[in-house]
Amino acid sequence: MKIICIGRNYIKHIEELNSEKPDEPVIFMKPDSSILRKNRPFFIPDFSNDLHHEVELVIKIDRLGKCISQKYAHRYYNSIGLGIDFTARDLQNKLKDKGLPWEKSKAFDFSAAIGSDFIPIEELEKNNINFRLDINGETRQKGNSSQMIFKFDELIAHISNYFSLKTGDLIYTGTPAGVGAVKINDRLEGYIENKKMFDFLIK
Ligand code: ZN
Repeated sequence: MKIICIGRNYIKHIEELNSEKPDEPVIFMKPDSSILRKNRPFFIPDFSNDLHHEVELVIKIDRLGKCISQKYAHRYYNSIGLGIDFTARDLQNKLKDKGLPWEKSKAFDFSAAIGSDFIPIEELEKNNINFRLDINGETRQKGNSSQMIFKFDELIAHISNYFSLKTGDLIYTGTPAGVGAVKINDRLEGYIENKKMFDFLIK
């Protein structure tokens, strides 16, 4: 399986990082070795002093497809989950400044936390999904799928022009504003609407 991530998909997050609003989805990938499941703790890697949380809605692909039109994109997924795209922001800024790829700051081991449960799409209002990240009981990030610049079906259409989508692939759909550093012993709890999707510690 592969993990496809979308950058710069929420205006307020673009503003907080002084990034440019994209004309088309910004895409990067993480390998399968980046997955962190089952509420296992996340260990801050020693190559970063500014390790950020980015909470994101995650699409789980359940059908093989390529060059999928937006009209039919809904046929390729049935459920939505919640994850964290962990980012070594200091390293990412260095790489960005040099015009180099972001992988070392984004795709390292266990950088893609994912909750075990996915919610069937028919139980959600696709363009009105509330989600949030609480750290130590305090809400740090919250978003709604209506704020996404590129919506689920547009993302699937765009991505599948370049990369075949396979059953089990995950698409991290971008983070809302409020990203920031995690520290040892932080407790991260993620919610879609009022359902808890993950709950784990930083070590
Ligand atoms: Zn992200």
